[in-house]
Amino acid sequence: MKIIYDKSKCIGCGSCASLCPKFFEMAENGKSHLKGSEFDTKTEKEELEVENAGCIKEASEVCPVQCIRILNEK
Ligand code: SF4
Repeated sequence: MKIIYDKSKCIGCGSCASLCPKFFEMAENGKSHLKGSEFDTKTEKEELEVENAGCIKEASEVCPVQCIRILNEK
């Protein structure tokens, strides 16, 4: 499945990094970073292919601006 994180919408609350440190960390610019992802400078989105979304699901649910999407969720 694919994780799409819309970095432009992130307000830097830190919830995803506390709930799901395996996949998220806070970056120096105050926004979170999806570890190992590719950043698209045009769309300002980070994308990552994962086998199992695991805690990304909780991070996605708790994100106040809902900028973490999981595609092809089983
Ligand atoms: S939970 Fe959402 S708004 Fe908060 S740091 Fe993570 S991506 Fe940004």
